[in-house]
Amino acid sequence: QVSLRDIRKSFGAIEVVKGLDLDVGDGEFLVLLGPSGCGKTTALRMIAGLETASAGRIYLGDQDVTDVLPKYRDIAMVFQSYALYPHMTVEDNIGYPLYLRKVDKEERARAIREVAGKVDLLDYLDRYPRQLSGGQRQRVALARAMIRRPSLFLMDEPLSNLDAKLRGHMRTELKHLQNELGVTTIYVTHDQIEAMTLAHRVAIMKAGELQQLAPPREIYNDPANLFVAGFIGSPP
Ligand code: ATP
Repeated sequence: QVSLRDIRKSFGAIEVVKGLDLDVGDGEFLVLLGPSGCGKTTALRMIAGLETASAGRIYLGDQDVTDVLPKYRDIAMVFQSYALYPHMTVEDNIGYPLYLRKVDKEERARAIREVAGKVDLLDYLDRYPRQLSGGQRQRVALARAMIRRPSLFLMDEPLSNLDAKLRGHMRTELKHLQNELGVTTIYVTHDQIEAMTLAHRVAIMKAGELQQLAPPREIYNDPANLFVAGFIGSPP
């Protein structure tokens, strides 16, 4: 479980996250949805520890991780740019987090095959990133995050660099993975369709503030205000 208690972030005089309170349950898939610049990415980066909060506390389970360094938080983050290592094969890219942890070679190979199977990459282990499609690269990035078995997944617009067809395909795959793995996930997007198909609950943000937090159907049927209604395009 992840809890945010009144977290805030200012850059200079401008407050871009204005007191966010949020609880994400174990195994929940929560989507942070909102227009460009509303502070979604900043919120996610604070949870990951890549950005320090100006105020507020962040809890992972019972642990207050607000002042804990990113590498000591049990979190994996997947970005829109996949940030694969170009000189390493798919196999080595996926296994890299275990290599850093000094997991021995055999155990690493076994774990790589297991996650590669989950994202359908078993036939591509010997390839280099440049020899893969955008969707395949994104799956490598997902596998590399999964192999760490984090207690929390953070994803920042992981599909936004893909073309529309591939995005639809990956949406289905993510849904499938989510059902299979059940890892707690916070997923940032400005895409309503992604939010509505993937989320258990959607948190809608505007200008650094939470507007509504509810399951997709409820948001659609009963938007909290005009902004939410307009943003997700539900009938007035
Ligand atoms: P997008 O969907 O476009 O990524 P977002 O909702 O994720 O938008 P953020 O990236 O969190 O928004 O940015 C929120 C606001 O904070 C923006 O106005 C942005 O310009 C500002 N901001 C983000 N990072 C910094 C920084 N390092 N220094 C100054 N301002 C920043």
